[in-house]
Amino acid sequence: MAPRTEILLETPPAAVMPEPLSSRVAPGRLARLAALVTPVASREDAEVRSPLDGRFVGAVPRSTPEDVLAAVGKARKAQEEWLHQTFAERAAVLIRFHDLLIERQDEVLDLIQIEAGKARKHAFEEVADTAIVARYYAVHAEEHLGPKKRQGALPGLTVAWEHHHPVGVVGIIAPWNYPLSMAVTDAIPALMAGNGVVLKPDQKTPFTALWAVELLREAGLPAALFQVVTGEGARLGTPLIESCDAIQFTGSTATGRKVGRQAGERLIHCSLELGGKNAMIVLADADLEAAVAGAIRGCFSSAGQLCISIERLYVHEAVYHRFVDRFVRETRALRLGRGLDWDADMGSLISSEHLAKVAAHVEDAVAKGATVLAGGKARPDLGPCFYEPTVLADVTAAMTLYAEETFGPVVALSRFDSIHEAVERANDSVYGLNASIWTEDVELGHRVATRLQCGTVNVNEAYAAAWASVDAPMGGFKDSGLGRRHGAEGILKYTEPQTIAIQRGLPLAAPAGMTDEAFSRTMSATLKALRRIPGLR
Ligand code: NAD
Repeated sequence: MAPRTEILLETPPAAVMPEPLSSRVAPGRLARLAALVTPVASREDAEVRSPLDGRFVGAVPRSTPEDVLAAVGKARKAQEEWLHQTFAERAAVLIRFHDLLIERQDEVLDLIQIEAGKARKHAFEEVADTAIVARYYAVHAEEHLGPKKRQGALPGLTVAWEHHHPVGVVGIIAPWNYPLSMAVTDAIPALMAGNGVVLKPDQKTPFTALWAVELLREAGLPAALFQVVTGEGARLGTPLIESCDAIQFTGSTATGRKVGRQAGERLIHCSLELGGKNAMIVLADADLEAAVAGAIRGCFSSAGQLCISIERLYVHEAVYHRFVDRFVRETRALRLGRGLDWDADMGSLISSEHLAKVAAHVEDAVAKGATVLAGGKARPDLGPCFYEPTVLADVTAAMTLYAEETFGPVVALSRFDSIHEAVERANDSVYGLNASIWTEDVELGHRVATRLQCGTVNVNEAYAAAWASVDAPMGGFKDSGLGRRHGAEGILKYTEPQTIAIQRGLPLAAPAGMTDEAFSRTMSATLKALRRIPGLR
């Protein structure tokens, strides 16, 4: 075990020194992390406050558009060398990062909790996810990107090879809700593919991202290869998109459209991981105990601030009452808390603005006739941004939260009487990110899943099974995004594919002494013959 660093939060600007939130973040630690931001000549600072109690956590530079250009320039220069590293050399860095991350997790779990306000067990999901992605691409990047011999135009005469070149510098714009996962897991395949990275984490959660970048450097990543700029997206997004060679954006659909438009103008690759309004379907034969536990995880992990979390719950009428009784009882029993320990089942929302949005969704629904079965209130006694896990029934299309993403711990519960109806209602959304189906008949679950218009569907799990199966792609249909993370798609997108075809012997045209007409007859006969060779594509 590495020696444990003693951690205290930065001294707040006010004279009052509150109880330190964390005993594992050492004095001066956050200032050292802030120093990793691409240096700026004249700097303004941006404050970071904890949603857990509103206290000042630390300050990071408020980067400027010029800083973004400088960051891209540095990453581009470093990438010229990184590009020549072998897959094995790059993988060694990521495997060291994986091991260090697991060893040092206590410190980053505190940081995630302090910045994002979530319960520790939800912060741990990010550690596990990041480790899984690091191992996967360390092991599989070469298999996805190494040169491959392809079938040539004419067997024996043409030999074709497929190569993948790094695009150069990948810009990553990340949200606050998974400040470790979203900052690093898309960067990992970009780095394995031989690119440099410039990351703009959300302004509310920069320290977690900086912690991860520092760890990557300790694991052996060249320092200049992975740059970080901090500040508002509206100010830094455009210069980043205008200077990078590919852009990976995770956030709201509204911002994603803006990013997509700008990337389209430059004709650079753009991958967009956006919002969701995800449905869970509980079939009549489901194991209800497991389904209720899955629904609790699906609806209330990270206080519902998870793009793949469940906001619509459809239960077969044969088991509706039994499911609801148990689900409501277990929802009411959830322990809310802000301790940096494992005691709480759910933490805080990210900000008072977000709390106001979640509360407004519930108030609108209740004013229009929804029934509150559990929760439905803010909890200022616990912290400025806490909101109870909330279960609503009688939700109708007239209510805002019927179709709009709440992005909070609020679920609308309703019943159905046929699988066809459940599928129709689940698909009745502009979003198509994630869905969940519960049934003892996994063959049936699999068949129903293929009828859902979603990028991931979990059978007998809420979201974690598909999310953690990183050998397979993850992303959204419809307004939930464009492009995919994970699997082959998650790394190929950071490359320029190149086909090299070597022609031997005869040319693909009339050779000297043959007329074009004779060539076309010979070629036609050859094509007819090739058509009859089994297996020839
Ligand atoms: P947001 O779009 O407001 O912010 C996301 C990031 O974009 C932040 O870093 C922000 O600074 C930046 N940004 C803001 N304006 C920008 C602009 N004009 N140009 C470029 N960048 C800009 O998102 P949010 O509301 O903070 O995050 C929550 C949303 O993210 C939810 O809708 C959620 O579903 C979605 N999300 C999706 C996934 C996924 O994988 N599909 C994962 C996490 C979150």
